[in-house]
Amino acid sequence: MSKKYFAEPFKIKMVEPIAVLTDEERLERIETANYNLFSLNSDDVYIDLLTDSGTGAMSAEQWAGIMRGDEAYSGARGYRNLVKSAQDIFGYEYIQPVHQGRAAEKVVMPILLGPGKFAISNMHFDTTRAHVEIAGARALDCVVEEALDTTTHYPFKGNMDLEKMESLIKEHGAENIGVIIITVTNNSAGGQPVSMENIRETSKIAKKYGITVLIDAARYAENSYFIKEREDGYQDKSIKEIAKEMFSYAEIFTMSSKKDAIVNMGGLIGVKDDSDLFENVKANTIPYEGFISYGGLAGRDLEALAIGLQEGIDYNFLKYRIGQMEYLAERLAEGGVPFQTPAGGHAIFVDAKKLLPHLKYYEFPGHALAVELYKEAGIRSCDIGSYMIGNDPDTGEQLDAGFEFTRLAIPRRVYTQSHLDVVADALIAIKDRADQVPGYKIVWEPKILRHFTAKLEPIK
Ligand SMILES: *Cc1c(COP(=O)(O)O)cnc(C)c1O
Repeated sequence: MSKKYFAEPFKIKMVEPIAVLTDEERLERIETANYNLFSLNSDDVYIDLLTDSGTGAMSAEQWAGIMRGDEAYSGARGYRNLVKSAQDIFGYEYIQPVHQGRAAEKVVMPILLGPGKFAISNMHFDTTRAHVEIAGARALDCVVEEALDTTTHYPFKGNMDLEKMESLIKEHGAENIGVIIITVTNNSAGGQPVSMENIRETSKIAKKYGITVLIDAARYAENSYFIKEREDGYQDKSIKEIAKEMFSYAEIFTMSSKKDAIVNMGGLIGVKDDSDLFENVKANTIPYEGFISYGGLAGRDLEALAIGLQEGIDYNFLKYRIGQMEYLAERLAEGGVPFQTPAGGHAIFVDAKKLLPHLKYYEFPGHALAVELYKEAGIRSCDIGSYMIGNDPDTGEQLDAGFEFTRLAIPRRVYTQSHLDVVADALIAIKDRADQVPGYKIVWEPKILRHFTAKLEPIK
């Protein structure tokens, strides 16, 4: 081990026991769950890396905020604290709480999109894509080529391919592009950051064609940290200064606060300044999410979110957190396990296409590795690949995602370096018998977001 990693900038005050099942028990549990990791009981999971969403450990200060929560229907103290906290970071005038990220998408997408329209993004997250399609529009992904090669060390693999973006605008007509969505960090490309230069240039092109720019802000703090570490001219800027500049290039953001704001439930919409946009946001929020000043959240949640937003941009916290990814990455690299490099902000994306070359995209290599990891050591992860992407909405054909990842998402402030060692050891053990890992076929699936509930079987 060459590098020294920054230890936890906190100490542990409360613990939560986790179970360790036998090999036989795990085999039985995953079969009962129809080989869908979302169908497992969490009590049957040893290390849960299914998602970093809503799974973080809140701080003593956030729990104190929960107790102070003001449960007034209208004008609650927590709402005012939240608006102040968010304005301080994002520099946007209008802040609307909602209950989670997809609620923000449900409110916003029908305002910007409709039948015949398109959304262009560096990469749509799965719920974002779903809400674009529910609004009657089509989602076009436009990430740089570098993202597809998992072996290169390009520092900003989340970037928008600007040339491709502009040609898509010309091809479909600027008047038909309802929104350009910049996802920071680029979740589906491996938690890869987007550079400030790329955000600035995306915004410039959007302005030229009169198209609204929306930031999908779930991991804006991690993205800001990467900009500070990797982009010239930002080393001496604070995370908050970097975030403020990023958001200055967009008109609106949607955010799942269950990620970088370290709450178990919550979301936000921000609108930069006075416009019809915010009137429309309010009009949709009330029937979907409840009154403006609580937006689907309890008063106590608003308070925890106001505090979590500020804790999420703490430099030492981010240094420790990104250090965890780098530690796991280093162990996997030493063990010869392929993954998206450099390590992402919230997760390691193991390259299942490389690790399991005998499986085709329609045999779901990313999912196959995730099932194997559970069988091996009780670790829960998920597929980010063809299994998640699903079928073409027009033809019903299985799409080829082009990449096949097994995502190890690391919850915030939850697991220690020893847990990460268990994960690395399990993957290295699987690598040594990779050719015996079976592919999977779907035996039942719903129409939309099938990966959450589909039933599968191993291919004999
Ligand atoms: C999680 C996430 C969402 C959806 O948010 P939820 O809180 O899960 O509804 C949208 N976009 C990105 C990039 C996300 O990571």
